[in-house]
Amino acid sequence: MQKQIQLRVKPEEAANASLLILVIAQALGETPESISGYHVLKQSIDARSRQQIWINLSLFVFINESPSNRYNEEIIFPTLPVNAKEVIIIGAGPAGLFAALECIQLGIRPIVLERGKDVRSRRRDLAKLNKEGIVNPESNYCFGEGGAGTYSDGKLYTRSNKRGSINKILRLFYQFGADERILYEAHPHIGTNKLPHIITAMRNQIEQSGGKVLFEKKLVDLVIEKGRIKEVITADGDRFPTLAVLLATGHSARDIFSLFYEKGILIEAKPFALGVRVEHPQSIVDAIQYHCAVRGPHLPPASYSLVEQVNDRGVFSFCMCPGGIIAPAATAPGEIVVNGWSPSKRDNAFANSGMVVQIDLETAAEYLTKSRNNKNNNNSIINLNNPLLLLDFQKVLEQKSFEFGGGKQIAPASRLVDFCTHKISKELPDASYLPGLQSADMSNILPDFVRNTLQEGFKAFGKKMKGYYTNDAIVVATESRTSSPVRIPRDPESYQHPQLSNLYPCGEGAGYAGGIVSAAMDGQKLAQVIANQLGY
Ligand SMILES: Cc1cc2nc3c(=O)[nH]c(=O)nc-3n(C[C@H](O)[C@H](O)[C@H](O)COP(=O)(O)OP(=O)(O)OC[C@H]3O[C@@H](n4cnc5c(N)ncnc54)[C@H](O)[C@@H]3O)c2cc1C
Repeated sequence: MQKQIQLRVKPEEAANASLLILVIAQALGETPESISGYHVLKQSIDARSRQQIWINLSLFVFINESPSNRYNEEIIFPTLPVNAKEVIIIGAGPAGLFAALECIQLGIRPIVLERGKDVRSRRRDLAKLNKEGIVNPESNYCFGEGGAGTYSDGKLYTRSNKRGSINKILRLFYQFGADERILYEAHPHIGTNKLPHIITAMRNQIEQSGGKVLFEKKLVDLVIEKGRIKEVITADGDRFPTLAVLLATGHSARDIFSLFYEKGILIEAKPFALGVRVEHPQSIVDAIQYHCAVRGPHLPPASYSLVEQVNDRGVFSFCMCPGGIIAPAATAPGEIVVNGWSPSKRDNAFANSGMVVQIDLETAAEYLTKSRNNKNNNNSIINLNNPLLLLDFQKVLEQKSFEFGGGKQIAPASRLVDFCTHKISKELPDASYLPGLQSADMSNILPDFVRNTLQEGFKAFGKKMKGYYTNDAIVVATESRTSSPVRIPRDPESYQHPQLSNLYPCGEGAGYAGGIVSAAMDGQKLAQVIANQLGY
């Protein structure tokens, strides 16, 4: 017999299969011996009660019969025929890789061109970045195999569930090596230590099926004829004739935005969010969220998600990494960008999160106009129609962070309460950011409207989470690559660029995704659209 049940159990019961079987048997009125197995369908934590934290479980239980193999239908990737049509995919991030896998399933040969290196070689450049503060503009936390998703926290939840099949994305991550927990946890994540193997397994599959993934192949030019891209040209001079181009270059490919701008290919400024990364000792976040002095052994490091409106401007937490590390995510020397990652166990001593403010075109233009006029002593006005305006704003603030940091990738920072009360911190506490921190006057770095909104936001968050507003926490500038400040437009039905009929802008860089899963879903969707257009 098989039965599906919902249970609310203690963390120690959820963590121990023998204990859980006793609870299941009692709930079903069966003997423990008759429970021959179970599959977890959904699992979430309910920490609302101060007395007891509960784990909510949805289970599929087998009574007096052998449990079935849960995931027997593997997703099959065929070997492509020699005459398969080819699609050029620019960028091997989640959008590009999942598009390539989908192409193979549809019978099309993907040729993936990636500016960065394979995951292994990329790791060496990250070590240099963390130890010596040297940024390789082609190989860093954003560029290289797997894109910005590879050395991330690997959080796999998204609100964009209408864009495609989240289940298919999770199943593929699982098939290529992720833990099965990602299939049922409410907030699944993979972890930086596991992602590189999974990404390598995906590339192996693409190559075994007859696709190609070429590294250190940076797109630098397009040959355009009669409203179509005829060839793409890479930095080493190679030319790739093409039927269709899926462009998935991510939000940090500034040279792609410049290339499009210079060639007169339509792009648009897109509002985005910018601020700081805030880091607390993990024990503080655990104590607040779990209402306890010390987190028990069966609970994961706690997380949070915060949002507030301050004077009509949104301020919100972003990409929270429990047990994580603040990472130097710049893509060029002379700028500081921070982001966060965590290992699968999330067992570092700190909890970090982006804390960002919505940036609109008019306010950014006003800020740039004022600061440029002050510097150059003139009265010019910034053109609001410039599609690169918000990118310029982002760049200026990243460069200021570098200027007021301690050189190399040493980032400017402040204790949280000091930041909110306009003080410069005398010294900084221990922190996870490996290149190092320097206490700085954040008013030199962040525009007033960003700083004031963050300050009010942090105070409000301190009321929602008692203990959050503390000088044991720090803020680090600048968290600026939350999403793309530029959109590459596409027709909502054909997904083609309005001027180039075989160009398909895709993923986060084009402005159609905001995370690993949504970028992967966008990649899959566009592969299906292209297959359709090519007559498959
Ligand atoms: C440190 C960090 C942690 C993160 N943590 C999470 C998380 O936990 N969960 C989550 O959902 N999201 C997270 N993100 C964001 C997430 O990684 C991105 O949303 C996602 O990777 C976007 O996918 P994409 O394929 O659209 O672009 P990207 O991942 O940015 O990939 C673009 C690829 O294109 C390549 N490229 C760029 N220009 C060119 C060119 N000219 N020629 C050839 N190739 C080019 C780049 O090298 C890159 O590999 C994190 C990001 C960072 C940096």
